[in-house]
Amino acid sequence: AATKHHFLDHWNEWMNDAPEAPAIRYFDQVLTVADIDLRSQGLAGWLSDSGIKAGDRVAVILQNVPEFTVAVLAAWKLGAVPVPCNPMYRPAELADLFIDFRPVAIVCDVRQVEEINAAVTSAGLNPAVITTDVRNGARVDQRVAPAGIASGSIGENWRASAAGKIIRPPRHGGELALILYTSGTTGRPKGVMIQHDALCFNAELSAIWMRLHSDSRMLGLAPYFHITGFVLHMAVSIVARCAVGLTYRFHPEVILAFQRDFEATTTVAAITAFNALSSLPDISIADFGHMDVAFSGGAPIAPALRNTLQQRLGLNLIPVYGMTETCAPTHMGLPGCEVPTDPETGALSVGVPISSTEMKIVDAKGNPLPPGQAGEVWVRGPQVTAGYWKRPLETAEVMAPEGWLRTGDVGTMDAAGWLYIVDRQKDMINAAGFKVWPRQVEDVLLEHSAVHEAAVVGEPDAYRGETVVAYVAVRAGAIVQAADLEAHCREKLAAYKVPRRFTILDEIPKTVTGKIRRVAVRTTPAAPSE
Ligand code: ATP
Ligand code: MG
Repeated sequence: AATKHHFLDHWNEWMNDAPEAPAIRYFDQVLTVADIDLRSQGLAGWLSDSGIKAGDRVAVILQNVPEFTVAVLAAWKLGAVPVPCNPMYRPAELADLFIDFRPVAIVCDVRQVEEINAAVTSAGLNPAVITTDVRNGARVDQRVAPAGIASGSIGENWRASAAGKIIRPPRHGGELALILYTSGTTGRPKGVMIQHDALCFNAELSAIWMRLHSDSRMLGLAPYFHITGFVLHMAVSIVARCAVGLTYRFHPEVILAFQRDFEATTTVAAITAFNALSSLPDISIADFGHMDVAFSGGAPIAPALRNTLQQRLGLNLIPVYGMTETCAPTHMGLPGCEVPTDPETGALSVGVPISSTEMKIVDAKGNPLPPGQAGEVWVRGPQVTAGYWKRPLETAEVMAPEGWLRTGDVGTMDAAGWLYIVDRQKDMINAAGFKVWPRQVEDVLLEHSAVHEAAVVGEPDAYRGETVVAYVAVRAGAIVQAADLEAHCREKLAAYKVPRRFTILDEIPKTVTGKIRRVAVRTTPAAPSE
Protein backbone atom coordinates (compact mmCIF):
# COMPACT_ATOMS: atom_id res chain seq x y z
CA ALA A 1 0.00 0.00 0.00
CA ALA A 2 0.95 3.66 -0.22
CA THR A 3 3.34 5.29 2.27
CA LYS A 4 1.23 8.46 2.29
CA HIS A 5 -2.51 8.83 2.20
CA HIS A 6 -2.98 12.38 1.07
CA PHE A 7 -1.07 13.74 -1.90
CA LEU A 8 -0.49 17.11 -0.26
CA ASP A 9 1.81 15.32 2.20
CA HIS A 10 4.16 14.49 -0.69
CA TRP A 11 4.19 18.11 -1.78
CA ASN A 12 4.62 19.53 1.72
CA GLU A 13 7.56 17.26 2.46
CA TRP A 14 9.33 18.29 -0.73
CA MET A 15 8.62 21.92 0.13
CA ASN A 16 10.08 21.46 3.62
CA ASP A 17 13.17 19.60 2.48
CA ALA A 18 14.11 21.34 -0.77
CA PRO A 19 12.23 24.59 -1.41
CA GLU A 20 14.83 25.76 -3.91
CA ALA A 21 14.72 22.60 -6.05
CA PRO A 22 13.54 23.14 -9.63
CA ALA A 23 10.00 21.78 -9.89
CA ILE A 24 8.91 22.93 -13.33
CA ARG A 25 10.78 24.10 -16.36
CA TYR A 26 8.39 26.01 -18.66
CA PHE A 27 10.19 26.99 -21.87
CA ASP A 28 13.16 28.94 -20.51
CA GLN A 29 11.59 29.66 -17.13
CA VAL A 30 12.48 27.62 -14.04
CA LEU A 31 10.02 27.50 -11.14
CA THR A 32 11.22 26.17 -7.83
CA VAL A 33 9.12 24.22 -5.36
CA ALA A 34 8.85 27.41 -3.28
CA ASP A 35 7.70 29.45 -6.32
CA ILE A 36 4.89 27.02 -6.98
CA ASP A 37 3.97 26.75 -3.32
CA LEU A 38 3.80 30.51 -2.86
CA ARG A 39 1.46 30.87 -5.83
CA SER A 40 -0.73 27.99 -4.72
CA GLN A 41 -0.93 29.55 -1.27
CA GLY A 42 -2.02 32.80 -2.92
CA LEU A 43 -4.60 31.11 -5.08
CA ALA A 44 -5.91 29.07 -2.15
CA GLY A 45 -6.38 32.36 -0.27
CA TRP A 46 -8.24 33.81 -3.21
CA LEU A 47 -10.45 30.74 -3.54
CA SER A 48 -11.12 30.73 0.17
CA ASP A 49 -12.12 34.40 0.02
CA SER A 50 -14.51 33.47 -2.78
CA GLY A 51 -16.21 30.97 -0.48
CA ILE A 52 -14.70 27.75 -1.80
CA LYS A 53 -14.70 25.04 0.84
CA ALA A 54 -13.95 21.36 1.30
CA GLY A 55 -15.66 19.10 -1.24
CA ASP A 56 -16.33 21.91 -3.74
CA ARG A 57 -15.26 21.29 -7.32
CA VAL A 58 -12.70 23.59 -8.91
CA ALA A 59 -12.50 23.31 -12.71
CA VAL A 60 -8.92 23.57 -14.00
CA ILE A 61 -9.13 24.42 -17.69
CA LEU A 62 -5.51 24.76 -18.69
CA GLN A 63 -2.91 23.29 -21.00
CA ASN A 64 0.46 22.04 -19.69
CA VAL A 65 1.44 25.19 -17.83
CA PRO A 66 2.83 25.71 -14.31
CA GLU A 67 -0.50 27.21 -13.22
CA PHE A 68 -2.05 23.77 -13.61
CA THR A 69 0.01 22.42 -10.72
CA VAL A 70 -0.56 25.64 -8.78
CA ALA A 71 -4.34 25.32 -9.16
CA VAL A 72 -4.43 21.65 -8.17
CA LEU A 73 -2.36 22.29 -5.04
CA ALA A 74 -4.51 25.30 -4.14
CA ALA A 75 -7.68 23.21 -4.37
CA TRP A 76 -6.14 20.47 -2.22
CA LYS A 77 -5.08 23.01 0.38
CA LEU A 78 -8.78 23.75 0.89
CA GLY A 79 -9.91 20.14 0.69
CA ALA A 80 -11.61 21.04 -2.61
CA VAL A 81 -11.65 18.75 -5.64
CA PRO A 82 -9.83 19.83 -8.80
CA VAL A 83 -11.55 18.79 -12.03
CA PRO A 84 -9.23 19.10 -15.04
CA CYS A 85 -11.08 19.88 -18.28
CA ASN A 86 -9.78 19.82 -21.81
CA PRO A 87 -9.15 23.49 -22.78
CA MET A 88 -9.77 22.62 -26.43
CA TYR A 89 -13.42 21.86 -25.66
CA ARG A 90 -15.95 24.24 -27.20
CA PRO A 91 -18.45 26.06 -24.93
CA ALA A 92 -21.20 23.49 -25.56
CA GLU A 93 -18.91 20.62 -24.56
CA LEU A 94 -17.74 22.51 -21.48
CA ALA A 95 -21.35 23.29 -20.53
CA ASP A 96 -22.12 19.53 -20.58
CA LEU A 97 -19.25 18.89 -18.18
CA PHE A 98 -20.21 21.84 -15.96
CA ILE A 99 -23.78 20.54 -15.63
CA ASP A 100 -22.28 17.19 -14.62
CA PHE A 101 -19.87 18.32 -11.88
CA ARG A 102 -21.12 21.83 -11.05
CA PRO A 103 -17.90 23.82 -10.50
CA VAL A 104 -17.90 26.39 -7.70
CA ALA A 105 -14.74 27.97 -9.10
CA ILE A 106 -12.98 27.87 -12.46
CA VAL A 107 -9.29 28.48 -13.16
CA CYS A 108 -8.58 29.23 -16.81
CA ASP A 109 -6.49 31.12 -19.34
CA VAL A 110 -7.62 34.74 -19.64
CA ARG A 111 -7.99 34.38 -23.40
CA GLN A 112 -10.66 31.74 -22.92
CA VAL A 113 -12.76 33.69 -20.48
CA GLU A 114 -15.54 34.60 -22.94
CA GLU A 115 -16.05 31.02 -24.03
CA ILE A 116 -16.08 29.88 -20.45
CA ASN A 117 -18.58 32.52 -19.47
CA ALA A 118 -20.80 31.32 -22.32
CA ALA A 119 -20.52 27.73 -21.05
CA VAL A 120 -21.24 28.81 -17.47
CA THR A 121 -24.31 30.77 -18.56
CA SER A 122 -25.74 27.93 -20.60
CA ALA A 123 -25.12 25.55 -17.69
CA GLY A 124 -27.03 27.97 -15.44
CA LEU A 125 -24.19 28.25 -12.92
CA ASN A 126 -22.42 31.14 -11.26
CA PRO A 127 -18.93 30.05 -10.22
CA ALA A 128 -16.00 32.31 -9.33
CA VAL A 129 -13.73 32.54 -12.39
CA ILE A 130 -9.99 33.05 -11.84
CA THR A 131 -7.89 33.71 -14.90
CA THR A 132 -4.22 33.59 -15.64
CA ASP A 133 -2.36 35.00 -18.61
CA VAL A 134 -0.55 32.12 -20.22
CA ARG A 135 1.33 34.24 -22.68
CA ASN A 136 3.99 31.74 -23.64
CA GLY A 137 1.31 29.31 -24.55
CA ALA A 138 -0.38 31.82 -26.79
CA ARG A 139 2.74 32.03 -28.88
CA VAL A 140 3.16 28.31 -29.13
CA ASP A 141 -0.41 28.01 -30.22
CA GLN A 142 0.19 30.36 -33.09
CA ARG A 143 2.98 28.05 -34.15
CA VAL A 144 5.75 30.61 -34.32
CA ALA A 145 9.27 29.30 -34.55
CA PRO A 146 10.57 27.98 -31.21
CA ALA A 147 13.16 30.76 -31.16
CA GLY A 148 10.31 33.27 -30.84
CA ILE A 149 9.13 31.88 -27.51
CA ALA A 150 9.90 34.32 -24.76
CA SER A 151 9.17 33.92 -21.10
CA GLY A 152 6.63 35.92 -19.20
CA SER A 153 5.90 35.91 -15.51
CA ILE A 154 3.08 33.70 -14.39
CA GLY A 155 0.37 34.13 -11.86
CA GLU A 156 1.74 37.35 -10.36
CA ASN A 157 -1.78 38.39 -9.43
CA TRP A 158 -2.24 35.16 -7.51
CA ARG A 159 0.89 35.75 -5.50
CA ALA A 160 -0.34 39.15 -4.46
CA SER A 161 -3.68 37.93 -3.20
CA ALA A 162 -2.57 35.69 -0.38
CA ALA A 163 -4.63 37.64 2.09
CA GLY A 164 -7.34 35.04 2.65
CA LYS A 165 -7.05 32.77 5.63
CA ILE A 166 -6.98 29.14 4.65
CA ILE A 167 -8.97 26.77 6.76
CA ARG A 168 -7.57 23.35 6.11
CA PRO A 169 -9.88 20.47 6.90
CA PRO A 170 -8.39 17.29 8.37
CA ARG A 171 -6.96 15.13 5.61
CA HIS A 172 -7.72 11.49 4.97
CA GLY A 173 -7.01 8.94 2.25
CA GLY A 174 -10.65 8.48 1.28
CA GLU A 175 -10.91 12.16 0.36
CA LEU A 176 -11.61 12.82 -3.30
CA ALA A 177 -8.35 13.95 -4.96
CA LEU A 178 -9.87 14.67 -8.32
CA ILE A 179 -12.60 13.97 -10.78
CA LEU A 180 -11.12 13.18 -14.16
CA TYR A 181 -13.08 12.58 -17.32
CA THR A 182 -12.31 9.57 -19.53
CA SER A 183 -11.10 10.19 -23.08
CA GLY A 184 -14.57 9.72 -24.54
CA THR A 185 -13.27 7.27 -27.13
CA THR A 186 -16.35 5.07 -26.97
CA GLY A 187 -19.01 7.55 -25.88
CA ARG A 188 -19.65 10.51 -23.63
CA PRO A 189 -16.71 11.12 -21.24
CA LYS A 190 -17.42 9.82 -17.74
CA GLY A 191 -16.15 11.59 -14.60
CA VAL A 192 -13.97 9.17 -12.64
CA MET A 193 -13.68 9.77 -8.88
CA ILE A 194 -10.08 9.33 -7.74
CA GLN A 195 -9.26 9.28 -4.04
CA HIS A 196 -6.03 10.51 -2.46
CA ASP A 197 -5.11 6.99 -1.40
CA ALA A 198 -5.36 5.72 -4.98
CA LEU A 199 -3.37 8.65 -6.33
CA CYS A 200 -0.63 8.24 -3.71
CA PHE A 201 -0.43 4.52 -4.38
CA ASN A 202 -0.11 4.74 -8.15
CA ALA A 203 2.22 7.73 -8.17
CA GLU A 204 4.54 6.17 -5.56
CA LEU A 205 4.64 2.85 -7.33
CA SER A 206 5.05 4.35 -10.80
CA ALA A 207 7.95 6.50 -9.60
CA ILE A 208 9.70 3.32 -8.46
CA TRP A 209 8.90 1.30 -11.59
CA MET A 210 9.99 4.20 -13.77
CA ARG A 211 13.21 4.45 -11.73
CA LEU A 212 12.79 8.18 -11.13
CA HIS A 213 15.06 10.06 -8.74
CA SER A 214 15.70 13.70 -7.90
CA ASP A 215 18.10 14.16 -10.84
CA SER A 216 15.62 12.77 -13.37
CA ARG A 217 14.09 15.19 -15.85
CA MET A 218 10.61 14.35 -17.07
CA LEU A 219 9.52 15.58 -20.49
CA GLY A 220 5.81 16.38 -20.23
CA LEU A 221 4.43 15.17 -23.56
CA ALA A 222 1.02 13.97 -22.34
CA PRO A 223 -1.69 16.50 -21.43
CA TYR A 224 -2.05 17.21 -17.70
CA PHE A 225 -5.84 17.20 -18.05
CA HIS A 226 -5.70 13.49 -18.87
CA ILE A 227 -4.80 10.73 -16.41
CA THR A 228 -1.46 9.95 -18.10
CA GLY A 229 -0.14 13.49 -17.76
CA PHE A 230 -1.70 14.05 -14.35
CA VAL A 231 -0.24 10.93 -12.74
CA LEU A 232 2.78 9.97 -14.87
CA HIS A 233 4.12 13.52 -15.26
CA MET A 234 2.84 15.71 -12.45
CA ALA A 235 2.26 13.35 -9.54
CA VAL A 236 5.28 11.08 -10.12
CA SER A 237 7.66 14.00 -10.41
CA ILE A 238 6.43 15.38 -7.08
CA VAL A 239 6.88 11.96 -5.45
CA ALA A 240 10.36 11.50 -7.00
CA ARG A 241 11.19 15.19 -6.43
CA CYS A 242 12.36 15.73 -9.98
CA ALA A 243 11.81 18.52 -12.49
CA VAL A 244 9.20 18.24 -15.20
CA GLY A 245 9.49 20.14 -18.48
CA LEU A 246 6.31 21.68 -19.89
CA THR A 247 5.68 23.24 -23.29
CA TYR A 248 2.03 24.32 -23.20
CA ARG A 249 0.88 21.58 -25.54
CA PHE A 250 2.27 18.91 -27.81
CA HIS A 251 3.81 20.41 -30.90
CA PRO A 252 6.61 18.29 -32.41
CA GLU A 253 8.96 21.11 -33.49
CA VAL A 254 8.57 22.96 -30.22
CA ILE A 255 9.17 19.76 -28.25
CA LEU A 256 12.33 19.05 -30.22
CA ALA A 257 13.77 22.51 -29.58
CA PHE A 258 12.86 22.24 -25.89
CA GLN A 259 14.34 18.76 -25.52
CA ARG A 260 17.65 19.85 -27.06
CA ASP A 261 18.00 22.26 -24.17
CA PHE A 262 16.19 20.44 -21.34
CA GLU A 263 17.81 17.04 -22.03
CA ALA A 264 15.04 15.05 -20.39
CA THR A 265 15.97 11.64 -19.03
CA THR A 266 12.50 10.14 -19.41
CA THR A 267 9.02 10.68 -20.80
CA VAL A 268 5.61 9.10 -21.22
CA ALA A 269 3.31 9.55 -24.19
CA ALA A 270 0.83 7.93 -26.50
CA ILE A 271 2.47 6.22 -29.44
CA THR A 272 1.12 8.88 -31.81
CA ALA A 273 3.29 11.51 -30.11
CA PHE A 274 6.44 9.46 -30.61
CA ASN A 275 5.35 8.79 -34.18
CA ALA A 276 4.98 12.52 -34.83
CA LEU A 277 8.39 13.25 -33.31
CA SER A 278 10.14 10.56 -35.34
CA SER A 279 8.69 12.05 -38.53
CA LEU A 280 10.50 15.38 -38.02
CA PRO A 281 13.09 15.74 -40.77
CA ASP A 282 16.01 16.86 -38.60
CA ILE A 283 15.51 14.74 -35.50
CA SER A 284 18.24 12.28 -34.55
CA ILE A 285 19.28 9.79 -31.91
CA ALA A 286 21.47 12.48 -30.32
CA ASP A 287 18.35 14.50 -29.40
CA PHE A 288 17.35 11.75 -26.99
CA GLY A 289 20.87 10.92 -25.86
CA HIS A 290 20.00 11.68 -22.23
CA MET A 291 16.83 9.64 -22.27
CA ASP A 292 17.43 6.46 -20.29
CA VAL A 293 13.93 5.17 -20.64
CA ALA A 294 10.67 6.17 -22.35
CA PHE A 295 7.18 4.86 -21.73
CA SER A 296 4.17 4.63 -23.98
CA GLY A 297 0.60 3.96 -22.97
CA GLY A 298 -3.01 4.76 -23.62
CA ALA A 299 -3.15 3.04 -26.99
CA PRO A 300 -1.61 -0.06 -28.57
CA ILE A 301 2.00 0.07 -29.74
CA ALA A 302 2.30 -1.46 -33.20
CA PRO A 303 5.52 -3.55 -33.29
CA ALA A 304 6.52 -1.96 -36.62
CA LEU A 305 6.35 1.50 -35.05
CA ARG A 306 8.35 0.43 -32.04
CA ASN A 307 11.13 -0.74 -34.36
CA THR A 308 11.11 2.53 -36.30
CA LEU A 309 11.42 4.48 -33.05
CA GLN A 310 14.25 2.29 -31.92
CA GLN A 311 16.12 2.98 -35.15
CA ARG A 312 15.30 6.68 -35.58
CA LEU A 313 15.40 7.90 -31.99
CA GLY A 314 17.21 5.16 -30.13
CA LEU A 315 14.21 4.81 -27.82
CA ASN A 316 13.28 1.42 -26.46
CA LEU A 317 9.64 2.02 -25.56
CA ILE A 318 8.37 0.43 -22.37
CA PRO A 319 4.62 -0.23 -22.43
CA VAL A 320 2.18 1.12 -19.85
CA TYR A 321 -1.42 -0.02 -19.63
CA GLY A 322 -4.16 1.52 -17.58
CA MET A 323 -7.28 3.61 -17.67
CA THR A 324 -8.71 6.71 -16.04
CA GLU A 325 -10.68 4.33 -13.82
CA THR A 326 -7.40 2.93 -12.45
CA CYS A 327 -5.64 6.27 -11.98
CA ALA A 328 -3.24 5.36 -14.85
CA PRO A 329 -1.17 2.17 -14.68
CA THR A 330 -2.18 -1.28 -13.62
CA HIS A 331 0.45 -2.83 -15.93
CA MET A 332 3.92 -1.84 -17.07
CA GLY A 333 6.89 -3.33 -18.81
CA LEU A 334 10.11 -3.55 -16.86
CA PRO A 335 12.94 -1.18 -17.79
CA GLY A 336 15.84 -3.26 -19.09
CA CYS A 337 13.65 -6.28 -19.75
CA GLU A 338 12.70 -7.36 -23.28
CA VAL A 339 8.97 -6.88 -24.01
CA PRO A 340 7.56 -10.19 -25.24
CA THR A 341 5.21 -10.52 -28.22
CA ASP A 342 2.19 -12.77 -28.51
CA PRO A 343 3.30 -15.76 -30.63
CA GLU A 344 -0.14 -15.97 -32.24
CA THR A 345 -0.95 -12.36 -33.15
CA GLY A 346 2.48 -10.74 -32.97
CA ALA A 347 1.06 -8.06 -30.61
CA LEU A 348 3.43 -6.53 -28.07
CA SER A 349 2.67 -7.15 -24.41
CA VAL A 350 1.44 -4.16 -22.40
CA GLY A 351 3.33 -5.33 -19.32
CA VAL A 352 2.84 -7.22 -16.09
CA PRO A 353 0.68 -6.08 -13.15
CA ILE A 354 2.49 -3.55 -10.96
CA SER A 355 2.89 -4.42 -7.27
CA SER A 356 -0.24 -5.09 -5.18
CA THR A 357 -2.26 -5.23 -8.39
CA GLU A 358 -4.06 -8.31 -9.66
CA MET A 359 -5.61 -9.24 -12.99
CA LYS A 360 -7.61 -12.05 -14.43
CA ILE A 361 -8.92 -12.87 -17.87
CA VAL A 362 -12.53 -13.98 -17.71
CA ASP A 363 -15.24 -15.39 -19.97
CA ALA A 364 -18.68 -13.82 -20.43
CA LYS A 365 -19.83 -15.29 -17.09
CA GLY A 366 -16.85 -13.93 -15.19
CA ASN A 367 -15.07 -17.30 -14.88
CA PRO A 368 -11.27 -17.13 -15.11
CA LEU A 369 -9.70 -18.42 -18.32
CA PRO A 370 -6.36 -20.20 -18.60
CA PRO A 371 -3.26 -18.53 -20.13
CA GLY A 372 -3.45 -18.04 -23.88
CA GLN A 373 -7.24 -17.71 -24.03
CA ALA A 374 -8.81 -14.37 -24.87
CA GLY A 375 -11.42 -12.83 -22.59
CA GLU A 376 -12.25 -9.62 -20.76
CA VAL A 377 -9.47 -8.17 -18.62
CA TRP A 378 -10.44 -7.61 -14.98
CA VAL A 379 -8.16 -5.75 -12.58
CA ARG A 380 -8.07 -5.21 -8.82
CA GLY A 381 -5.83 -3.05 -6.66
CA PRO A 382 -5.57 0.05 -4.47
CA GLN A 383 -5.65 2.29 -7.56
CA VAL A 384 -9.15 1.29 -8.68
CA THR A 385 -11.74 4.08 -8.66
CA ALA A 386 -14.61 4.43 -6.23
CA GLY A 387 -16.86 4.91 -9.26
CA TYR A 388 -18.15 7.47 -11.71
CA TRP A 389 -19.31 10.85 -10.49
CA LYS A 390 -23.12 10.81 -10.21
CA ARG A 391 -23.51 7.77 -12.43
CA PRO A 392 -24.55 4.85 -10.24
CA LEU A 393 -25.77 2.79 -13.20
CA GLU A 394 -22.53 3.04 -15.16
CA THR A 395 -20.58 2.45 -11.95
CA ALA A 396 -22.53 -0.74 -11.28
CA GLU A 397 -21.82 -1.89 -14.84
CA VAL A 398 -18.03 -1.78 -14.43
CA MET A 399 -17.75 -2.92 -10.82
CA ALA A 400 -17.63 -6.70 -10.46
CA PRO A 401 -17.89 -8.42 -7.04
CA GLU A 402 -14.93 -8.43 -4.61
CA GLY A 403 -13.32 -5.23 -5.84
CA TRP A 404 -12.74 -6.31 -9.45
CA LEU A 405 -13.06 -3.74 -12.22
CA ARG A 406 -14.23 -4.75 -15.70
CA THR A 407 -11.95 -2.94 -18.13
CA GLY A 408 -14.01 -3.53 -21.27
CA ASP A 409 -10.76 -4.58 -22.95
CA VAL A 410 -10.18 -8.04 -24.38
CA GLY A 411 -6.83 -9.61 -23.68
CA THR A 412 -4.79 -12.72 -23.11
CA MET A 413 -2.22 -13.52 -20.48
CA ASP A 414 0.80 -15.77 -20.95
CA ALA A 415 2.12 -18.26 -18.42
CA ALA A 416 4.61 -15.72 -17.06
CA GLY A 417 1.87 -13.14 -16.40
CA TRP A 418 2.45 -10.76 -19.33
CA LEU A 419 -0.77 -9.17 -20.59
CA TYR A 420 -1.60 -8.74 -24.29
CA ILE A 421 -4.47 -6.44 -25.21
CA VAL A 422 -6.38 -7.74 -28.19
CA ASP A 423 -8.74 -4.79 -28.51
CA ARG A 424 -11.70 -3.11 -26.89
CA GLN A 425 -14.75 -5.32 -26.61
CA LYS A 426 -16.83 -2.62 -28.30
CA ASP A 427 -14.56 -2.51 -31.35
CA MET A 428 -14.93 -6.11 -32.40
CA ILE A 429 -16.13 -6.50 -35.99
CA ASN A 430 -18.45 -9.39 -36.68
CA ALA A 431 -18.01 -10.23 -40.38
CA ALA A 432 -20.37 -13.06 -41.29
CA GLY A 433 -19.81 -14.62 -37.88
CA PHE A 434 -16.04 -14.21 -37.95
CA LYS A 435 -14.54 -12.07 -35.20
CA VAL A 436 -12.14 -9.46 -36.51
CA TRP A 437 -10.17 -7.31 -34.09
CA PRO A 438 -9.33 -4.00 -35.84
CA ARG A 439 -6.12 -3.61 -33.92
CA GLN A 440 -4.48 -6.70 -35.48
CA VAL A 441 -5.31 -5.46 -38.98
CA GLU A 442 -3.97 -1.98 -38.11
CA ASP A 443 -0.70 -3.47 -36.87
CA VAL A 444 -0.30 -5.26 -40.21
CA LEU A 445 -1.10 -2.11 -42.21
CA LEU A 446 1.52 -0.19 -40.21
CA GLU A 447 4.14 -2.68 -41.39
CA HIS A 448 3.71 -1.26 -44.91
CA SER A 449 6.43 1.33 -45.47
CA ALA A 450 4.02 3.90 -46.97
CA VAL A 451 1.54 3.77 -44.09
CA HIS A 452 1.78 6.47 -41.44
CA GLU A 453 -1.48 5.82 -39.55
CA ALA A 454 -4.24 3.27 -39.94
CA ALA A 455 -7.74 2.75 -38.60
CA VAL A 456 -9.90 -0.28 -39.26
CA VAL A 457 -13.63 -0.32 -38.61
CA GLY A 458 -16.69 -2.43 -39.31
CA GLU A 459 -19.23 -1.15 -41.78
CA PRO A 460 -22.84 -2.38 -41.97
CA ASP A 461 -23.20 -4.87 -44.78
CA ALA A 462 -26.47 -6.44 -45.96
CA TYR A 463 -24.83 -9.79 -46.68
CA ARG A 464 -22.14 -10.21 -43.99
CA GLY A 465 -23.73 -8.15 -41.23
CA GLU A 466 -20.51 -6.18 -41.01
CA THR A 467 -17.60 -5.83 -43.35
CA VAL A 468 -14.02 -4.78 -42.61
CA VAL A 469 -12.88 -1.45 -44.07
CA ALA A 470 -9.59 0.39 -43.63
CA TYR A 471 -8.66 4.06 -43.49
CA VAL A 472 -5.03 4.95 -44.00
CA ALA A 473 -2.92 8.09 -43.78
CA VAL A 474 0.16 7.91 -45.96
CA ARG A 475 3.71 8.96 -45.02
CA ALA A 476 4.86 12.30 -46.44
CA GLY A 477 6.00 11.84 -50.03
CA ALA A 478 4.80 8.23 -50.28
CA ILE A 479 2.26 7.02 -52.81
CA VAL A 480 0.28 3.81 -52.43
CA GLN A 481 -2.56 2.08 -54.26
CA ALA A 482 -5.41 0.24 -52.57
CA ALA A 483 -4.33 -2.89 -54.46
CA ASP A 484 -0.86 -2.75 -52.84
CA LEU A 485 -2.38 -2.50 -49.40
CA GLU A 486 -4.75 -5.33 -50.11
CA ALA A 487 -1.93 -7.58 -51.36
CA HIS A 488 0.09 -6.70 -48.25
CA CYS A 489 -2.82 -7.68 -45.98
CA ARG A 490 -3.55 -10.89 -47.92
CA GLU A 491 -0.01 -12.00 -47.29
CA LYS A 492 -0.30 -11.63 -43.51
CA LEU A 493 -3.94 -12.11 -42.61
CA ALA A 494 -6.69 -14.68 -43.03
CA ALA A 495 -8.93 -13.72 -45.95
CA TYR A 496 -11.91 -12.73 -43.75
CA LYS A 497 -9.74 -10.13 -41.96
CA VAL A 498 -8.57 -8.40 -45.12
CA PRO A 499 -10.32 -5.03 -45.51
CA ARG A 500 -12.81 -4.92 -48.37
CA ARG A 501 -12.10 -1.27 -48.99
CA PHE A 502 -9.18 1.10 -48.39
CA THR A 503 -9.72 4.84 -48.08
CA ILE A 504 -6.83 7.30 -47.95
CA LEU A 505 -7.29 10.13 -45.44
CA ASP A 506 -5.05 13.13 -44.81
CA GLU A 507 -5.08 12.29 -41.13
CA ILE A 508 -6.75 9.70 -38.93
CA PRO A 509 -9.06 11.41 -36.42
CA LYS A 510 -7.77 10.90 -32.88
CA THR A 511 -8.62 11.99 -29.36
CA VAL A 512 -6.18 14.44 -27.76
CA THR A 513 -4.86 11.45 -25.89
CA GLY A 514 -3.80 9.83 -29.15
CA LYS A 515 -6.52 7.22 -29.57
CA ILE A 516 -8.19 6.49 -32.87
CA ARG A 517 -11.75 7.81 -32.88
CA ARG A 518 -13.31 4.99 -34.84
CA VAL A 519 -16.73 6.63 -34.81
CA ALA A 520 -15.30 9.74 -36.46
CA VAL A 521 -13.17 7.82 -38.94
CA ARG A 522 -16.24 6.73 -40.88
CA THR A 523 -17.43 10.27 -41.52
CA THR A 524 -14.07 11.84 -42.42
CA PRO A 525 -13.92 12.84 -46.09
CA ALA A 526 -11.28 11.07 -48.16
CA ALA A 527 -8.10 12.90 -49.17
CA PRO A 528 -8.36 14.31 -52.70
CA SER A 529 -6.66 11.90 -55.09
CA GLU A 530 -4.35 13.42 -57.65
P1 ATP B 1 -13.94 6.18 -22.80
O1 ATP B 1 -13.88 5.28 -21.63
O2 ATP B 1 -14.56 7.50 -22.50
O3 ATP B 1 -14.51 5.54 -24.03
P2 ATP B 1 -11.08 5.72 -23.00
O4 ATP B 1 -11.39 4.34 -22.52
O5 ATP B 1 -10.24 5.82 -24.23
O6 ATP B 1 -12.42 6.55 -23.23
P3 ATP B 1 -9.03 6.28 -21.06
O7 ATP B 1 -9.37 6.01 -19.66
O8 ATP B 1 -8.18 7.45 -21.38
O9 ATP B 1 -10.39 6.54 -21.85
O10 ATP B 1 -8.33 5.05 -21.74
C1 ATP B 1 -8.28 3.74 -21.21
C2 ATP B 1 -8.26 2.72 -22.35
O11 ATP B 1 -7.13 2.95 -23.21
C3 ATP B 1 -8.12 1.30 -21.92
O12 ATP B 1 -9.36 0.74 -21.52
C4 ATP B 1 -7.56 0.64 -23.19
O13 ATP B 1 -8.58 0.33 -24.11
C5 ATP B 1 -6.69 1.72 -23.78
N1 ATP B 1 -5.26 1.50 -23.44
C6 ATP B 1 -4.56 2.05 -22.44
N2 ATP B 1 -3.28 1.65 -22.45
C7 ATP B 1 -3.15 0.81 -23.49
C8 ATP B 1 -2.07 0.04 -24.04
N3 ATP B 1 -0.84 0.07 -23.51
N4 ATP B 1 -2.34 -0.74 -25.11
C9 ATP B 1 -3.56 -0.80 -25.65
N5 ATP B 1 -4.62 -0.10 -25.20
C10 ATP B 1 -4.42 0.70 -24.13
MG1 MG C 1 -12.75 3.64 -21.10
